[in-house]
Amino acid sequence: MSYSTNNKKIIYLDNAATTKMDPEALNKYVEISKNCYGNASQPYFLGVNSKKILNESRKIIAKCINANPDQIFFTSGGTESDNWVIKKANISKKREDIVVSLIEHHAILNSCKEYNVNYISVDSTGTIDLNELKKSVTNKTRIVSIMYANNEIGTIQPIKEAAQIAHKKGALFHTDAVQAVGHVNIDVKDLDVDYLSASAHKFNGPKGIGFLYVKDVKTIDRFEDGGEQENRKRGGTENVAAIYAMATALKNNIDNLVLNQRKIMNIENYFYKKISSFNLDYVINKSPNKLPGIISVSFKNADGEMMMHRLDLANICVSTGAACDTKKTEASHVIKAIKVKPQYALGTIRISIGKNNCKKEIDLLTKEILKILK
Ligand code: PLP
Repeated sequence: MSYSTNNKKIIYLDNAATTKMDPEALNKYVEISKNCYGNASQPYFLGVNSKKILNESRKIIAKCINANPDQIFFTSGGTESDNWVIKKANISKKREDIVVSLIEHHAILNSCKEYNVNYISVDSTGTIDLNELKKSVTNKTRIVSIMYANNEIGTIQPIKEAAQIAHKKGALFHTDAVQAVGHVNIDVKDLDVDYLSASAHKFNGPKGIGFLYVKDVKTIDRFEDGGEQENRKRGGTENVAAIYAMATALKNNIDNLVLNQRKIMNIENYFYKKISSFNLDYVINKSPNKLPGIISVSFKNADGEMMMHRLDLANICVSTGAACDTKKTEASHVIKAIKVKPQYALGTIRISIGKNNCKKEIDLLTKEILKILK
């Protein structure tokens, strides 16, 4: 088994899929795995040491989103956090229905399948209509779940207003902030959400670890049967090294938030300028209020899937705006929901810029795109 990329010079422009680990977070991950391997539930010093690292991580993460440490529950990532809320958020037996937007991640859409769901549409920028939301929430609604920022087009939703609408009708409110945490400033108290999902590998932390913010622990049932960990809400021996690495990565991103945003926006704008200088027919799928770095571009009569593979041959990683199975390729549910014209929809690629990218990489990317399309 080879773990090497053969020293290929890779241009990684798929940071919405996952990110490269922050060097300090990676060092902590290795150091703690090597030296602090005690089970955090054990009373001897090695266990107590692990418990201290857990507590410290909880404090660091809570501070980054303006929560209290006892409101942070460690999970295996975004998918688990989303499933936990959808399936276990609990107020009253009389309330069973769910309201979500049409462009939620599949971690939300697929975990809703057993419930009565009301789907909110979005406009061509991917933004929900708050009036439609008002009409959709009823006295039967248990939970409203609207993502903070979309993973394909980057649209940021009016979360504070949406949470107010849910609360006025007595429903709980969750936001899947997996793409947003570590990239924009998030204040859970100001947003007044009941739950918020996050995943470390989207903000330069390790994979397989994340957290769920829970405003009031009484409103959620335990995730699964098991030990007493996580305030008896989520059993299982904690991955202390990954948790501390997650906290380190998040703190580093938050400490450098404005700097990173400025750098990423600068590269994003450079892409728009570059691509517009070629004689190509395309649309950019974006909203005025968006996450820095996520670019969804649809080229007329192109094949996004083929473009992704051709770019891969040039060692450039981007993703498509399509969902493929072995028989046919269709535009993704997001591209469909924002109603990208059919002659453009299948020619969609997503370029997602991170803090480690530079403009030179955009020069190489756009040169390759031109080569492919001409
Ligand atoms: N929610 C959103 C918006 C995402 O982008 C993702 C990952 O792509 C997830 C949830 C799932 O997160 P994880 O990979 O940590 O399970």
